Amino acid sequence: MFYARERSDPAGGVYGVEWSFTDRWGGSGRGRSVGFNLGLHVGDSSDVVEANRHGLAREFGLRLQALRFMNQQHGCEVAVSAGVKGPVAADGIISRDAGEALVVLVADCVPVLLVDRTAGYVAAVHAGRPGMVGGVVPAALAKLRELGAQEVEAVVGPSVCARCYEVPAAMRDSAADIEPVSASVSWTGTPAIDVGAGVVAQLVRGGVAVRWLPGCTREDPNLYSYRRDGQTGRFAGVVRLIAPEQVA
Ligand SMILES: [Zn+2]
Repeated sequence: MFYARERSDPAGGVYGVEWSFTDRWGGSGRGRSVGFNLGLHVGDSSDVVEANRHGLAREFGLRLQALRFMNQQHGCEVAVSAGVKGPVAADGIISRDAGEALVVLVADCVPVLLVDRTAGYVAAVHAGRPGMVGGVVPAALAKLRELGAQEVEAVVGPSVCARCYEVPAAMRDSAADIEPVSASVSWTGTPAIDVGAGVVAQLVRGGVAVRWLPGCTREDPNLYSYRRDGQTGRFAGVVRLIAPEQVA
């Protein structure tokens, strides 16, 4: 069920945080989305997806209603969770409520989880190529700082790697105009984009301490990959704040 998972308890007056990236195993998805598919509208039945989402919520000790999903648009809108059920139309979501967990769904795009353990904020961001070029991560950082965040840490989950993300030369060049480090070369020597590297550069420039998990969605059969499989399921990055009073 989990590709990576970690929990840091609150300590010395700072908040704790629990985050995870799921994989494709352990759920009841079928067909092309076989496994722990968490995405609606990707060819899987909504009953199966809901059952899988229930399972995810349970792992966090939450009810399904406490998972905050986004209706992801490949844009740069960043929403602040209002504690209501139902997805917000955005590619970044911020919360300071330890009673809910934020979810970003991906199948090659870069999932970014953010936390400020001092100010007590978490955020989940969906950064594909359009999000990297458009600046959804800088937009999320700006919103976090506006809210009072100062010491932001990031965990960047697995996504399609540069070698596996072949694109037309013009597309590579226009991405490189925004983030030069993203210009890359595929396994076959053709133009490619390193979206993850571009996102990490944006985080570093934003003063964020970054952990970048290894792994390529297209190369790892444990993860869903649109590039590899076309229609397929979605795995998730999930983050939740843990308030000091939640630990005895
Ligand atoms: Zn790869």
